Amino acid sequence: MTTTLITGANRGLGFETARRLREAGHTVYVGARDPERGRAAAEAIGARSVLLDVTDDDCVLAAAEYVRERSGHLDVLVNNAGVAGPRKEAADITVEDIEAVYTPNLFGAVRVTQAFLPLLQKSSAPAVVNVSSGLGSLAIAADPEQHVSHVPVYYASLGYNTSKAALNMLTVQYAKAFPGIAFNAVDPGWTATDLNGHTGIQTVEEGAQVIVRLAMEGGGGPTGKFFGNSGIVPW
Ligand code: NAP
Repeated sequence: MTTTLITGANRGLGFETARRLREAGHTVYVGARDPERGRAAAEAIGARSVLLDVTDDDCVLAAAEYVRERSGHLDVLVNNAGVAGPRKEAADITVEDIEAVYTPNLFGAVRVTQAFLPLLQKSSAPAVVNVSSGLGSLAIAADPEQHVSHVPVYYASLGYNTSKAALNMLTVQYAKAFPGIAFNAVDPGWTATDLNGHTGIQTVEEGAQVIVRLAMEGGGGPTGKFFGNSGIVPW
């Protein structure tokens, strides 16, 4: 049975991914930074909850130990937890504003990946799915009008977009460093969740599709790629 951990899985795209992977028979660990929200979400779908604040070293190491004790290995890690950051004009964005976005979106993915590497390396077909965004694509940012199928409304943001661009490069670098693990980035597309005040044009069922697909393919699939719901997304 495939063992999967999803960060930030108590709501939004993470929860929908957890629900679908449970339905598909995965043993799912719902990572959540709030124990009650995590427990409630996990109970609702027959999953296990694990306390996991992606910004906290001790918490992430404890989560890895918790999964090691119960499952001994990890097949699929979904780095999903993320924040949008403040909506401010570029001139008003401070280093602190950007740090507040990079800390979960980018450093969190590094922290969790590093802590779970030993468990992933115990899997026969390990995979890491980094939940990125079309807004992190340099190609789309350079010419949004040519890519309306990926990003129907281009939204400029110094913090969020650069955090996802860095997450994309992180994905490629990890893919090169660990050829035995499938590392891919995915863009769920503009989806109605709390992250955007439910302005997104897709449902979570539609948005989570690509995350679920890559998680189901696991280590048997491609590596070092960027996928959206309608195929490859340009870097
Ligand atoms: P959401 O509904 O706001 O959910 C975000 C999740 O991340 C929540 O479970 C939240 O936990 C968790 N989280 C935030 N900071 C955390 C931390 N420090 N440690 C652990 N968990 C943390 O947003 P969403 O739309 O589902 O977003 C999920 C991912 O999809 C994000 O990476 C986002 O950038 C990406 N994405 C979203 C869209 C979209 O249109 N919605 C498009 C492209 C990419 P709490 O409940 O405790 O706050």
